[in-house]
Amino acid sequence: MSANWKNRLLEHYRDHARDLPWRVRPGSNRRPDPYHVWLSEVMLQQTTVATVTPRFARFIEKWPEVSDLASASREVLLAEWAGLGYYARARNLHGCAQQVVALGGFPEDEAGLRELPGIGAYTAAAIAAIAFDADSVPIDTNVERVVARIEGIEGPLAETRSEVHDAARALWPKERAGDFAQAMMDLGATICRPKTPRCGECPVSGDCAAFATGAPEAIPAPKVRKARPERRGTAWWIERDGAVWLVRRPAKGMLGGMAALPGSEWTDGAWPEEPEQAVRHVFTHFALTLAIEPRDVPPEGEGWWQPIDRIDEAGLPTLYAKVVEAMTLVS
Ligand code: SF4
Repeated sequence: MSANWKNRLLEHYRDHARDLPWRVRPGSNRRPDPYHVWLSEVMLQQTTVATVTPRFARFIEKWPEVSDLASASREVLLAEWAGLGYYARARNLHGCAQQVVALGGFPEDEAGLRELPGIGAYTAAAIAAIAFDADSVPIDTNVERVVARIEGIEGPLAETRSEVHDAARALWPKERAGDFAQAMMDLGATICRPKTPRCGECPVSGDCAAFATGAPEAIPAPKVRKARPERRGTAWWIERDGAVWLVRRPAKGMLGGMAALPGSEWTDGAWPEEPEQAVRHVFTHFALTLAIEPRDVPPEGEGWWQPIDRIDEAGLPTLYAKVVEAMTLVS
């Protein structure tokens, strides 16, 4: 393998880097704002660049500095996060912003960053490399795939992950770690695509073991999919004078702290009989079907009447937004 492939990749990145609002152009003498890098990395966990880009812009407009985010109310922050999913991220975001303000700024190395709420190994390495140019190796799924292909590590990633990560650390340059990280991420996102890698446009094809096999898409081997468990529950639709009764979910657990419709627990298994009206939502680890049951009286406990024509302001997560859509379409 020629040592030049890393330079070719960096040159390709300089000329073709994706224009993303949390980045600075490669070659710029400005460093990216650590607040922007952190916020984008948290938003991008499990969420696509296309979805994150406008939401990131809204966050930054609303809370231009990390101190603004730290002093926001948790309910407003959760409402702004609505629809992005994985709501533990939003709760950690708030706690993390407050700690960063207390520390007087973001720590500049992985160890310090990992002390903060919601920052795991990958995110710490990404912030350290991209915002501070530290000698860190952020390995996301795109980078895993690119490294597995360049190095010709064939098995499913679930079995070869530690080998792939060792290989990534061995090949990562000590200098320009942040640019290299973003170059690898861009290569994986735009050229070295999972099913149809565009090797003809790839700056490193001459040094890629997968390309040399003639079937680069076969590396890494696809994972064996397990069936997703099905759960079911009931959402209660309690409507009065153009308003619907909402509650706040308990702070811990799925959709913790989010606005919600009241309803039953979610349990495993099938319906004794199919509900008349239901919505289905697929979470990462299970699929949920929520039957919709109109009721007249709110359950005991706290809640509030939310005007239906201002339902957007409640910050309902997608699951409950689907129920609202189903109910307002029929009424
Ligand atoms: S040559 Fe093809 S398989 Fe190899 S890194 Fe480039 S796009 Fe991916």
